[in-house]
Amino acid sequence: MSSLSLKGRVAIITGSSSGLGQATAVLFAQRGCAVVVTGTNEKRLQETLEKCQKAGLKRDQILTVAGDITIHKTREEIVTRTFETFQRIDILVNNAGALYTGFIKDLEEKDIDTTFNLNFKVPVLLSKLVFPYLKETKGNIINVSSCVSESLTPEATMYGIAKGTLDNFTKAASNEWGPAGIRVNSVSPGAVMTPLVTSLVGNNQDMIKKMAEMQGKLHALQRLGEPEEIAEGVAFLASDAASFVSGTVLFVDGGRHCFPGSVTGSKSGKSPF
Ligand code: NDP
Repeated sequence: MSSLSLKGRVAIITGSSSGLGQATAVLFAQRGCAVVVTGTNEKRLQETLEKCQKAGLKRDQILTVAGDITIHKTREEIVTRTFETFQRIDILVNNAGALYTGFIKDLEEKDIDTTFNLNFKVPVLLSKLVFPYLKETKGNIINVSSCVSESLTPEATMYGIAKGTLDNFTKAASNEWGPAGIRVNSVSPGAVMTPLVTSLVGNNQDMIKKMAEMQGKLHALQRLGEPEEIAEGVAFLASDAASFVSGTVLFVDGGRHCFPGSVTGSKSGKSPF
């Protein structure tokens, strides 16, 4: 069996009704992993479920849990129902996230709260809930961060700070939980045209095309990423192929985090001052 196989494992993937989380659920399904698909949109949860079945999972290897993950009861329900259904938890992918765009000078208090809530606080609290189960299975956690945690692109600075804080949580949890056999890592994607990004321009097709061209140029590889490429990074870290990898931030971003053009090429192309 390949060390990339996830056969026999059980993974909770937050925000898997869409975008990168959905692609991750499908790849995990292809690799034989039972998946717990979460999000708020029931129709899209069903879509992910069907894609995972097409990828080879049986219906009883997929659990869907709908609900707002910023609410404690939802997080508890995800963990409790996962264990009741599969009697084990091996992998947690903290993928659900929200993008705040705006300069620091224009921030309101609620912008900081919402950005940090979903991108930092929720992954920490869910990891804490899953910890006792991962201890049993010597499992692992992957936090989905962002390349802008490093480049701190103007206009998305608060989001970058929240993701950078998430990466620090990755390192701290790796230190604290490593002795229990639990690995904790981050994946930092480059730009991928998911609803998170296209909604910034109101899903206007001309604007999406323009944004895609401009965003592509911010990466050393001069193109956008595909959801499946990000999922490959997550699946690698989740697998035994990464058995000695912990506390790391894996950039799956076409080289964007260190590409000189990535900072000046923000939406307006200007710095805020
Ligand atoms: P999408 O908008 O496509 O998906 C976001 C997912 O998160 C959806 O499944 C959504 O569920 C879920 N979600 C959001 N808020 C909540 C909530 N309160 N409760 C429960 N679920 C919620 O975004 P992406 O796939 O692009 O983003 C996934 C991750 O990747 C995020 O953490 C993002 O920050 C990160 N990222 C994305 C990049 C990109 O270019 N796309 C680049 C770098 C990082 P539903 O739709 O059902 O409400």
